[in-house]
Amino acid sequence: MPDIAFEVAQQQLDKAAKVMNLDPAAHKILRQPMRVLKVRFPVVMDNGKTELFTGFRCQYNDARGPTKGGIRWHPDETIETVKALAAWMTWKCAVLDLPYGGGKGGIICDPKNMSDGEKERMARAYIRAIGRFIGPERDIPAPDVYTTPQIMNWMMDEYSIIVGYNSPGVITGKLIEMGGSLGRTDATARGGMYILREWAKKNKVNLSKCTVAVQGYGNAGYYGAKLIKELFGAKVVAISDSRGGIYCDKGIDADKANEYKAKTGSVVGFCGKKITNEQLLELDVDVLIPAALENVITKKNAAKVKAKVILELANGPTNPEADEILHKKGIFVLPDFLANAGGVTVSYFEWVQNINGYYWSLEEVHEKLDKKMTKAFNDFWAKCQELDVDPRTAAYVVAVEKVAIAMKYRGWY
Ligand code: GLU
Repeated sequence: MPDIAFEVAQQQLDKAAKVMNLDPAAHKILRQPMRVLKVRFPVVMDNGKTELFTGFRCQYNDARGPTKGGIRWHPDETIETVKALAAWMTWKCAVLDLPYGGGKGGIICDPKNMSDGEKERMARAYIRAIGRFIGPERDIPAPDVYTTPQIMNWMMDEYSIIVGYNSPGVITGKLIEMGGSLGRTDATARGGMYILREWAKKNKVNLSKCTVAVQGYGNAGYYGAKLIKELFGAKVVAISDSRGGIYCDKGIDADKANEYKAKTGSVVGFCGKKITNEQLLELDVDVLIPAALENVITKKNAAKVKAKVILELANGPTNPEADEILHKKGIFVLPDFLANAGGVTVSYFEWVQNINGYYWSLEEVHEKLDKKMTKAFNDFWAKCQELDVDPRTAAYVVAVEKVAIAMKYRGWY
């Protein structure tokens, strides 16, 4: 089986298409992105030299509305991963019933070694390169791996300069002080917690008695570790980041670990004993939360996973072969495009607030997010009961049905 993310995304779709007897024309359209943009743009670095960077933006499918999805800044970014991530955004927006299609962007760069000035010039140059292809009714970017609310604000400002008026709705995940929504920061993890809570109810699992391992300590991982303790009283025993992980059976204080990482660059050394990212995935815990990058649970390690449930806060952490192994072992995977959809759901709330110029309270955001996530979980759960397939395929069937109907009524097939 291929390790290439986009082939994985296509295989997952093919499997669902078969189960649901998808119209071959719809299947053909949905196997490919509608638009893929590759841009090169210059950025003046702090040393005075001009570097040329490569960026991408993929608008996968816009049958249900403008395309929506984050922008990743990563040294290993490729067009294939961006296409896969854009496909997953399509299913994510559909499963949550947001009026959006799916998109994704990326820049090949190493933000860990860039100053704030270089980041700002990079953000603005990227928007000058793709600006005419995005917009509040066309394609709406957001943060993702190594991009921040401040970067979103620079991008929003640059776009507003290009069009000649203030356009906060072009990008979500902005700072609260300038167009952002309350509750966006922890929304990805919080949405995942609502999904986990609903799963636990159905399976009569007491989350306060559960142990947890979290891979990745960015926005999703840190808030995942924090909220699972705060909301349910679960015990986080292992966390990690790109430099490695730690195991501490007394339990890890998420905020203190985050402060330690801010000071030292990594969670490694904060407490307990050092482990690798691979070891973390195989720990004897109840809940495993992959919250870093794609393709980390594969046929090489799936049989060694011991958790009861996997909450995928990362995009694409489990590949199709691993899905089969986990399903046979009875490990329940709460699939990425459902489990991590809280981020884009509050992005949708942000866009609605920007367009209306009327802002909601934090309580309102939490309440609306909970409702949306719970409804999406129940639709997914009903499909799991109806079909004898792995959970990811059940989620695909729910999502693909919605996109296929939109394409049908538009007259695309
Ligand atoms: N990057 C996030 C995701 O993968 C959020 C996307 C958005 O808010 O548009 O879901």
